[in-house]
Amino acid sequence: MKKTLALILSLFLACISCETIMKRAYSQSGSYDQISPPDLLKDFSALRKRVKKNPRDVPALNSLGIIYARAGKLDEAINLWKLAMSVDPTYVHLYNNLGSALKQQKRYDQARLIFRTGLVYSNSYWIYYNLGLLEREDGNTAKAAEAFQLCLAQSPDFQPALKQLAELGYHVQLPKRQGGEPLSIGSYKPPTDIGAQKHYDERLLGTVASKGIPPSTYGGKTKPYSLPDGIKALSFEECVEIIREFNPSKEEKFIALTFDDGPHRTNTPELLEILKKEGAKATFFVVGNRAEAFPELVSKISEEGHDIGNHSWDHRSLVKSTDKEALESVRKTNDLISGITGKQCEIVRPPYGATNRHLKNLFRQEEWHEILWDVDSRDWESKTPEAILWRVMKTISPGSIVLMHDIHSHAASVLPVIIKAFKASGYEFITITDMIKRKRAHIMKRALPISEQFDDNNVSNPVATNTTEVN
Ligand SMILES: [Zn+2]
Repeated sequence: MKKTLALILSLFLACISCETIMKRAYSQSGSYDQISPPDLLKDFSALRKRVKKNPRDVPALNSLGIIYARAGKLDEAINLWKLAMSVDPTYVHLYNNLGSALKQQKRYDQARLIFRTGLVYSNSYWIYYNLGLLEREDGNTAKAAEAFQLCLAQSPDFQPALKQLAELGYHVQLPKRQGGEPLSIGSYKPPTDIGAQKHYDERLLGTVASKGIPPSTYGGKTKPYSLPDGIKALSFEECVEIIREFNPSKEEKFIALTFDDGPHRTNTPELLEILKKEGAKATFFVVGNRAEAFPELVSKISEEGHDIGNHSWDHRSLVKSTDKEALESVRKTNDLISGITGKQCEIVRPPYGATNRHLKNLFRQEEWHEILWDVDSRDWESKTPEAILWRVMKTISPGSIVLMHDIHSHAASVLPVIIKAFKASGYEFITITDMIKRKRAHIMKRALPISEQFDDNNVSNPVATNTTEVN
């Protein structure tokens, strides 16, 4: 099945002209791009490369599907999304996109089934909205109204749903538009004109919860993560099988493990023990005031050949701080780290992964590398090691930066399997500093500052994706 997946994909991607697709995709109005990272849409060939490298790269498969759908190639898009769904049935965007495409083909029953399945995984207001549009188009007014109401229960100021309800004869209080483009009513349009882009940014900044918008609105899960129904815990052999499908270049046969928020009195030594036993290097992004409390652990991490990164002094969001506060928080932590280890620290991971242009520039001026991640283990959320392993293995690719936490005890239980499986396939586990060196040597022949490589807007280099971190 897995080899078939790779084969289907390669044939599929080879037989469709890149240029034709791109031209058509961009000449059409977008119907599917409302929740995908917009940067992914910018570079079709980068996506194809990603899929070639890892046929299980679900975000890339999803975005490719969007491009095909926008180019009017709905059948191809549907096939891609179905393939992606077979890899990760919990990736909620797929349900929105696949359901919308089926609806467009007037395959209402199938579309309905897809939306309803998506709702099992997440109370996404977008899915309710799409379901409402489907029911309305299919003539089920009462069901449509119910779906729009459920949509609004998730996101009370979601204007398209309010408008739909108003059109169905319900009495609703429409909030005033804040200027700008008029709404497009009755079709499934990207919400760029209704401020949803703002929601997206807020989510990236980790402020969603404090604004009262449930995290589920963009497919995140409100409930503690557990293995989805029907999905088995992965065995070591299955992990090896997944890794076998990757097609990395020689320079990319590595993984960078990162542990945030420590040091921790018992978890950190336990992780160090495992790393030593398995012959793996990793990077610990320490919080300054914790490093101050456990200097002997900071020293041990460094002595055992791992990297120490800076995760701010007190884990306060740097984008919500003034420049002065942000610089002080990072500098104070850097001074402490270099005081203990005798080495300069040049790598910074902003708390929550919250960053913006301004902060990036600030880091650049100080010659600090901003390091995010592309694989989120969600170890803070998962109740079982099986769920963490599943999540990591379903999202990892050659060259990935994996986010874990040493203030939680879960990472230690999955680490040996992950390391053993990758090592059995010839991969190394390297530090971020090593990764930067390799990238400088192999990839960055252009005269770009190294931090550009970790810029989430730089699609040609999908090393790090900006993702919300909870801890
Ligand atoms: Zn953190």
